[in-house]
Amino acid sequence: MAVEPLDDRKFAGYRRKLIEQIRGRGIDDLAILQLFDRVPRHLFLPQGVWPRAYEDAPIPIGFGQTASQPSLQALYLSVLDPTPEDTVLEIGTGSGFLTALLALTADRVYSVERIRELSVRARAALDQLQMKNVALMVGDGTIGWRKYAPFDLIVVSAASPSIPPAFTDQLAEGGRMLIPVGTRDRQELVLARRENGEVREEVIHGECTFVPLLGRFAWASETGDEAD
Ligand code: SAH
Repeated sequence: MAVEPLDDRKFAGYRRKLIEQIRGRGIDDLAILQLFDRVPRHLFLPQGVWPRAYEDAPIPIGFGQTASQPSLQALYLSVLDPTPEDTVLEIGTGSGFLTALLALTADRVYSVERIRELSVRARAALDQLQMKNVALMVGDGTIGWRKYAPFDLIVVSAASPSIPPAFTDQLAEGGRMLIPVGTRDRQELVLARRENGEVREEVIHGECTFVPLLGRFAWASETGDEAD
């Protein structure tokens, strides 16, 4: 895949520091760390926040949404461990940065975002990096994406009160899903796996805060202002 880090020394230096921070949080899988060098995060963020693009922090991307913290995304990748055979469903494209990391490691990524403008921006960044194995859809991801199911991996980047039934329905045998489950203020990261037809859940990380999953099988949109 034709992905080169941006030919920009300043950002390259920041990327190295970010990778050190991610490593400092206990992710030492070289293949994962290298992904953060290969995908220029700033390209996925509004220009106004570029100076913060390589902080290990959630970054505002407009429409009341945030790009997730890179070390948390590294944790997602290390737990899910995508392979080149995997078909991935991502719910909450947001900036598209995690979409890009997944696209470099999996076979195909199907990503759903409810805010059209974010999806359009993510597409532009993915195109710039010539990532062709990604399909984006604008809509309510709480119903999954039945057309391309089942999925080997389901990656949910927004917090849900419980696991929407479509996600477990669309999880392949042997498949794994990561989803933050809890209240609107505080969640735990739940890993669900389908083995011998049965879905088992375990909490793999506590105390995280994601933006809410808004939709038919999660929380109701309080204002309805972000989408449509
Ligand atoms: N991994 C992304 C996370 C973005 S935040 C990143 O790092 O940029 C989560 C995203 O989920 C937001 O963009 C929000 O609009 C989106 N979202 C919330 N509810 C959704 C739903 N029902 N369907 C699709 N996307 C949803």
